[in-house]
Amino acid sequence: MDLGRGIPMRCDCGAATVVLASNTARNPGRRFYRCGAISGENHVFKWVDEAHDEEFVVVANKLATMEQDLADIKADLADMKNDISENVALIECLRGKC
Ligand SMILES: [Zn+2]
Repeated sequence: MDLGRGIPMRCDCGAATVVLASNTARNPGRRFYRCGAISGENHVFKWVDEAHDEEFVVVANKLATMEQDLADIKADLADMKNDISENVALIECLRGKC
């Protein structure tokens, strides 16, 4: 099962994940995501702390992409404003105002 990066919201079987706490001697109290329907080899299991560390990277990458997209949109908007100004000036000129 490929969990992908970050917080697993759903298992491949379609069930939503749940958060439980480990009661093993090796990981006492450590929280984990697990398939909400079935515990088993082909169902979600992921430590919460590791999932959250991954999620931080996923969100940071999304934020960087969104910031770049916003910069691109601002540049496009500035270009469109210039085009509009040029068109307005041209129309005024055609009306004999220049
Ligand atoms: Zn499952």
